[in-house]
Formats: sequence, C-alpha cells, structure tokens
Amino acid sequence: MSESELAARHRAVLPKWLALYYDEPIEIVRARGRRVTDADGTTYLDFFAGILTNAIGYDVAEISDAVRAQFDTGVLHTSTLYLIRKQVELAEQIAQLSGIPDAKVFFTNSGTEANETALMLATQYRRSNQVLALRNSYHGRAFATVGITGNRGWSASSLSPLKVSYVHGGYRYRDPFGGLSDADYVKACTDDLRDVLQTTTSGDVAALIAEPIQGVGGFNVPPDGLFAAFQEVLDEYGILLISDEVQTGWGRTGEHFWGIQAHGVTPDAMTFAKGLGNGLAIGGVVARADVMDSLTANSISTFGGNPVATAGAKATLDYLLDNDLQGNALKLGNHLIAGLRDLGERCDIVGDVRGKGLMIGVELVESGGKDPSPANASAVLEETKARGLLVGKGGLHGNVIRLAPPMTLTNEEADEALEILSASIEEVAR
Ligand code: PMP
Repeated sequence: MSESELAARHRAVLPKWLALYYDEPIEIVRARGRRVTDADGTTYLDFFAGILTNAIGYDVAEISDAVRAQFDTGVLHTSTLYLIRKQVELAEQIAQLSGIPDAKVFFTNSGTEANETALMLATQYRRSNQVLALRNSYHGRAFATVGITGNRGWSASSLSPLKVSYVHGGYRYRDPFGGLSDADYVKACTDDLRDVLQTTTSGDVAALIAEPIQGVGGFNVPPDGLFAAFQEVLDEYGILLISDEVQTGWGRTGEHFWGIQAHGVTPDAMTFAKGLGNGLAIGGVVARADVMDSLTANSISTFGGNPVATAGAKATLDYLLDNDLQGNALKLGNHLIAGLRDLGERCDIVGDVRGKGLMIGVELVESGGKDPSPANASAVLEETKARGLLVGKGGLHGNVIRLAPPMTLTNEEADEALEILSASIEEVAR
C-alpha cells in the first residue's frame, strides 16, 4: 500500500487533531543509529528523534539485549502489586540523580501522566487547586495538563479542574518587555510573578510548573537564574516548584543533566518521560518524599514501571551515563548553534537561533522583519525532507524549526544536517 493510501485511512479513522507532518506523511519502517527509513525505502537523518523519544539512537544493542532478556523470562508484565527489581533499581538511580534530598519516584506511561501525577501531589500536599504555569507552556494532553497548557494551539479544552494563572518567563523573543538585558528580564518576570500572585490568586497556590526550556512552545530559553529568582518568591508563600523535564532531562541540554539545574535551584518535584525509554513508554515523577507520600488513599498504575519498560529504561540511562552523551550534546549543540547563527547573519528569514545542547530552535520570520512566518517553517520542513533530513516544527505561531537529534549524534552527521538546513533555508528565502 502506498503511503498516501495509508494517510487517507489514518485520516478516516483517527481523530483529526492527531496531527501528521508533511504534505505526504511518511511511515517509518526501519531505523539504525540516527537514520530512519520509510516504506518507500527513503532514508533520512533524524533530527527530531521521534520528538525526543529516541535519546540514544535507534537499534542500540545494549537496549535491545536488555529488553530481549526480559522478554525471554516470559514476564512482559504481571502487576505493580508484585516487586519488580528493575523498577526499584531505576527508581534508586533516578532519585540519586535528581539531587532532590530524600527523593521518591513514581513511574507512569507518559509525560502527560507524569504531570497529572505531579499536579495531583502538589494540590493534595498544599490543599489548593490553584496552580501557576508559564505563558506558552505545554504539559500534556489529559484533563489537568491540557487545562494548564498555555500555548493556544495545544490547549484543547479549557474545562480544567484547576485554577491556573500564567506568568511571563517562557517566550522571550516576543515578550512584551522589549529587549531587556538578562538581569532586567529576570526582574521583570519576577515582578510579574508577584503581581499575578497578588492579583489573580488567593496566595495559597499549590505549585508553579515550568519547562526549563519550552519544547512545544519553540525551544525558548530563559536566562539562567530565572527560576532561582522565582523560587525565592515561591518560598515566601510555601508554593512548590515542579520542573517539567520531559524534554530537557537526561543531559540533552548539554550543560546539566536536568534543565532546571542551569538555574541553580533544586525543585520540589521533577517530571520526566520521552528519552528515558529510548522509544519504550515510560515516564514518571521524582519528588520530595513528603510530597510524594502526601496521598492518603491507595493509588496504582497498571503498567507504569513495568518490567519491559524499566529494563529498557535502565539500559538507556546506563548507556547515557557511561558514554557521556551529555558532553556530546554540549559539544555538538554548540557547533550546530554557531553554524546556524552564521546562517542567520546571511539569511534574513532567520529571526532567532536559540537553544542549549541538542535542543535547538530556529525561529523563521517574514523576510527582513520580525513577523512570524509559519509558511516559511512549513516550506523548510518539506525542503529538508526532500534533502533527507527530518526536523520538527513548533512555537506559538508554528514558525520555529526544532532540532533534537539522538544524543549519540556524530560530528559528520551534525555537519551533514547543517549543510542540508542551510541549503533548505536559503532555498526558501529565495
Ligand atoms: N511535557 C512536555 C514538556 C512535553 O514536551 C510533553 C510532550 N510533548 C509532555 C509533557 C507530554 O508528554 P506525553 O506526550 O508523553 O504525554
């Protein structure tokens, strides 16, 4: 069957809001390293890593072996009502890596479920249904997480059980403050946080949840230290800080293992998912023990932290650490950012190049100005695909090209992608 037939069948039977990339959507049927092959036999360099789910590349023997060994026991899953050795080991490792003193871990199947859990813990702990989030945020697709998602394109329902107030600190390229220095920007955002607390909440807010670098929102990087300034205010009120590390975790930002560490703060809870399973469904929350244990009734997750997912995740985490992929992300991220900034100097549809490590955004604008250009972004997506490179798209206006390759990326692959991206963006600019 041709891909367009499959796309038509997809459209007929799956929800219209389940978005597909490309004029002719692709079906990936094989993958090795950083390359994926579609049903027509075309191979692409993957610079979106399945929206960051593939942290360390495709077909990594250590992961396949760990998962296969679990399959060979016959126990794909029974229940979390019984002990699962790999789950305990993975929890111990993540608790230790979190830097949160006396941390405990709960495993879920997705980032959405991780954030739903963190919000439930925080609201229970603080006995308040008020939450702060950043403007232009994305935290998931279930009831509470959609309700707190700030980015209009992804806040599919407003019927949230939570009362949410939004603060500045997400999307700096188009903030209303107008070209402030880092220090003044941090002060403006902190003043805004105080103002929002005083004018839109009763003060007994449960938590502030934030992505250290906004993912879906367009890889927006706040100045280092913003969340430390926020935490000082939150501490005055006893408000918890939840860092949504679903995209920024596992060393992807290069400088730190968790995105929030760039701000020199330890949050009360962090949520994670995506890259941990290297494609297997696993997510979770790591939190202060008193916050984690604040639920008074029993709870369960039928599949969260199952033997197959935790075996794969443990192998992924060990691989990440043993091979210093954080260091690789820093090195190649800096190289890519420098190359793209060069391109930006000569190409006036590049409005902004930003990011950290292997989480890089290129904001495309109308020629010579600052007006967002989703048309240019869509055209670049098609051009790069035609040249054998898969990239992502995002941002409030759908005009940001997002780059997030597997963290095992090589120098040669980084240069290949830079070349294709430069040619594609220059072609669209003409
Ligand atoms: N938080 C962030 C920051 C995300 O980027 C995402 C997914 N794009 C989620 C939460 C939700 O994760 P999932 O799709 O696994 O439910």
